[in-house]
Amino acid sequence: MELTDFNVKERPQWCPGCGNFAIVAAIKGALQELGIPTHQTVISSGIGCSSKLPHYLGTYGFEGLHGRALPVASGIKLANHKLNVIAVGGDGDGYGIGAGHFVHIMRRNYDLVYIVHDNQIYGLTTGQASPTSQLGMKTRTTPYGVVEVPFNPIATAISGGATFVARVFAGDMAHTKEMMKQAIAHRGFALVDVFQPCVTFNKLNTYDYFTKRCYKLQNSGHDTASINAALEKAFEAFNTNYEKIPIGVFYKAERPTYEDLQPQLKEKALVEQDLSNLDISSAYADMM
Ligand code: SF4
Ligand code: MG
Repeated sequence: MELTDFNVKERPQWCPGCGNFAIVAAIKGALQELGIPTHQTVISSGIGCSSKLPHYLGTYGFEGLHGRALPVASGIKLANHKLNVIAVGGDGDGYGIGAGHFVHIMRRNYDLVYIVHDNQIYGLTTGQASPTSQLGMKTRTTPYGVVEVPFNPIATAISGGATFVARVFAGDMAHTKEMMKQAIAHRGFALVDVFQPCVTFNKLNTYDYFTKRCYKLQNSGHDTASINAALEKAFEAFNTNYEKIPIGVFYKAERPTYEDLQPQLKEKALVEQDLSNLDISSAYADMM
């Protein structure tokens, strides 16, 4: 297989029209345009429709446990920080079950990308309300409408220490690919939250819904270096009752990565180091 051939034989097990198709195509296009060969990328995922993605790209991949895409990704990064590491998952997987990992990984600023297929519903389990379901949305578990305030991943990422925070709409392929490229090229933790229409179970947040409401921050004079401006934009959709929904880069900053701050990784990746003469008996004795 060519190291630039991202195609696999397995056919995606997604409903026709699902926004997931655009996401996998955007990741593939971004990796190809950045010239990153298949063997230098690892994609980890949790559980959900979105988390099948590692099967559909010719990179290395690991489909793990529900909500655990990020701890697996950080372990891969620490073992070999020279690899390009991408974690993927859904809104339920990442912002519900894996929320604790999401919050703490951003403080560490690993150099990895987290792509969240945010369809405001649990798709694989056939349509329950998720952490990002809008107020009042009727689902199988909320027949009278959601009463909880939705989780705000953009505001959480900006205030939580992520150094690249973006949102895209899967119906705009060119923009989605461009944001993926910027996120992968960024040094530090990058979140790309993707509005990904679940055409089967979410009849509210459709392609039409986002096409009418989304506008690009890059055309609005937004200052991506200002944390206050970024937070204001992060709440705009909620504050306008979803009439105006910004997409694009909300916030970008430079900070040393977790890997930069580990003296053990200065010269070589962990996997390149000779551990055969390592004596851990004194550390072991301390624990007894
Ligand atoms: Fe996509 Fe929804 Fe079908 Fe899952 S259930 S594959 S998210 S359309
Ligand atoms: Mg979901």
